[in-house]
Formats: sequence, structure tokens, C-alpha cells
Amino acid sequence: MNATVSKLINQQINKEFYSAYLYLDFANYYDAAGLDGFSNWFRVQAQEERDHAMLFYTYLQNNGEPVTFEAIDKPAWTPGDRATPLHQALEHEKYVTSLINDIYAAAFEAHDFRTMQVLDWFVKEQGEEEKNASDLITKMELFGGDSKGLYMLNSELKARVYSAPSLVL
Ligand code: MG
Repeated sequence: MNATVSKLINQQINKEFYSAYLYLDFANYYDAAGLDGFSNWFRVQAQEERDHAMLFYTYLQNNGEPVTFEAIDKPAWTPGDRATPLHQALEHEKYVTSLINDIYAAAFEAHDFRTMQVLDWFVKEQGEEEKNASDLITKMELFGGDSKGLYMLNSELKARVYSAPSLVL
């Protein structure tokens, strides 16, 4: 595998684990605020991020590439109001999209068509991640302003269940 592509995927393993760590911190925040549905939503999101990390890890392993685990950063965000983690999540997903695009560009340049095919799934996944984060902000703006609306929204988010990723390597 091209050295740059391998290095970027290695870094992405860390970035995905960081995403899981950040979303667990959001879950932690909402648990403390008594919003168990919001917490559940981010716990499920964190599980998805761990899956992403494991997919990249497995992909490198399958291709005989060395994997190096680096330290995971402390979640970096400043609590504001109840909508703050939702906005932070959207910004973070946009950042992750840019990282996936960077790996794709490197794979394209190296004519690494196998990696591009794997990344196709992640490109689509990022579209969904950004939409989910954006939809959540919209719902919070529409319904989160009074206690009844917040209760209903919290109940809806409590129903989110984890499902394994559709990508099989
Ligand atoms: Mg991810």
C-alpha cells in the first residue's frame, strides 16, 4: 500500500476513536442534565464511531499494513446550553468528512482503487452523519424550547438502537 494512504488510514483509526470519546462526553453531559434520550443517542453514535475505527483497523490488518495506536486526545468542547453538543457534533462530522476526503484524494493519486472502494462507503456514511446531526439541531430548534417538547424529543431519541455497520471488509 502507498505509504501516505497507509499513514492517513492509521491516523483515521485514532480520529474515529476520538469521535467515540467526544460523543461519550456528550452522552455524559446529557446524563448529568437528566436527558437520558439525548444521552442514549450519543452512546449509540459513539458505538458507530468505534465500529468505524475497527473497520479501518481491520482493513490495514487485511492488507498486511502495520498499525500504530497513538494517544487519544481529551474531548475538546466547551459546554454552553443544551443545544451546544448538537452544534459541536455537526461541526465535528464536517471535519471528519474532510479527513475522509483527504484519504480518498491520496488513494486516488496513488491509483489505490481497492482503498477507494472501501472509502466509498465512508463517503456515503459521512453524508448520513452530517444529515443526522443537522436534523437533530432542527428538531431541537423546533421542539426543544419548552418542557413538553423537550420531553417528547428526549423520548424519541431514547428509542434509537444500535445496529452494526453495513460495510463488510
Ligand atoms: Mg465516524
